[in-house]
Amino acid sequence: MAITDFLELDRTLSDEQRIVRDTVRRFVDAEVLPHIGQWCAEGRFPEHLIPMMGEMGLFGSTLPEEYGCAQVDSLTYGLIMQELERGDSGLRSFASVQSGLVMYPIFSFGNDEQKKQWLPKMATGEKIGCFGLTEPDGGSNPIGMKTRAVKDGKQYVLSGAKMWITNGNLSDVAVVFAQTGAAGDHRAVRGFLVEKGTPGFKVNEVQRKIGLRASNTSELVFEDCRIPAENLLPGTSQGLKCALMCLNQARYGIAFGAVGAAIGCFEEAVGYTAQRAPFGKSLDHYQITQMKLADILTQITLGQLICFRLAALKDAGALQPEQISMAKRNNCRMALETARRCRELLGANGITYEFHAGRHETNLISVDTYEGTYEVHTLILGQKITGKNAFD
Ligand SMILES: Cc1cc2nc3c(=O)[nH]c(=O)nc-3n(C[C@H](O)[C@H](O)[C@H](O)COP(=O)(O)OP(=O)(O)OC[C@H]3O[C@@H](n4cnc5c(N)ncnc54)[C@H](O)[C@@H]3O)c2cc1C
Repeated sequence: MAITDFLELDRTLSDEQRIVRDTVRRFVDAEVLPHIGQWCAEGRFPEHLIPMMGEMGLFGSTLPEEYGCAQVDSLTYGLIMQELERGDSGLRSFASVQSGLVMYPIFSFGNDEQKKQWLPKMATGEKIGCFGLTEPDGGSNPIGMKTRAVKDGKQYVLSGAKMWITNGNLSDVAVVFAQTGAAGDHRAVRGFLVEKGTPGFKVNEVQRKIGLRASNTSELVFEDCRIPAENLLPGTSQGLKCALMCLNQARYGIAFGAVGAAIGCFEEAVGYTAQRAPFGKSLDHYQITQMKLADILTQITLGQLICFRLAALKDAGALQPEQISMAKRNNCRMALETARRCRELLGANGITYEFHAGRHETNLISVDTYEGTYEVHTLILGQKITGKNAFD
């Protein structure tokens, strides 16, 4: 039994769930961990891994087989995210966006033609997507979005900008949410498919990031950008709620992914402190080290429990957004703190790309921020507890 399976959750997995989890684990060990430090140093996403991930069925994996997807259950999806992020948050971010923020909205809000056009090629990784909701003036309050879509005959004209968009520069298509009515009218927000190369659509990569360096982050700019009216995702008629439904998919995967990053850091720290011996005896003989490791393992185990429960609720169709908020908020903070403490256990080595904890720590700053910051999820939970909306 692996020490990070402290409560023997593995016993509850089906053979299929275990096989998928172990396949992704081996992929990350062989193809990601030996090279990830270099990709981060270069600040580039490893695009050559995309077809391999497609081959393994890691994109849109819960969607139906008729679109070329693996149609796995929610726990399997979560474990895929966990294993990818044990490698790097950038890799999991790529798969999360492709799956939960692009394929999911096309599947849920698109028409048959849109589904047939995009989903099979996105499942293999031949086509890549991004999701544009956040704007330069503030991401925590999407109701205040300024990007507009105005109907003009058989076209919509988009104007505005989206910021911090994962996969932006790699994408063939962007799912973009824009205001079609009066400013602040959440019911009039709609989702659109904007294809790469559309006149008036520009993508600028964000440079000099201090974390998530093996991930592409971009600004999307729309200047008199005309798209065919049929690029509207017709099912987004419920307004901003549809964008929030997409976020819930991605936040669910992030809760699992954060556990993976924490496991990666913990396993490294256990191995390191067993051989590093600045006072003659290895560091793991010392009580302070053992206390740190005991605290970290306890927090990882609690994070796993919350994820397994989310998966059961999700498959039962009973998962509430506030439950996802609790998991996203807690597991991201847990993973960030775990990475910080593990990096501390590595001493000076912890700040290099030769080891993993420092890289995970700088990645997790972004993971804690995106898809709703810690504070935003605090207010969502606060509203659930008190019945009072602190966002107004
Ligand atoms: C690497 C990376 C990738 C990303 N990828 C995507 C993507 O693919 N698609 C996308 O749409 N977005 C993406 N984002 C954007 C992300 O979702 C936003 O950064 C996030 O929602 C926060 O928005 P903001 O940065 O504008 O911060 P702001 O909204 O300006 O908030 C600033 C600070 O104020 C706090 N705050 C805000 N409101 C309140 C309040 N009412 N009370 C108390 N505190 C408050 C916040 O918690 C935060 O600490 C990404 C971000 C990063 C860093």
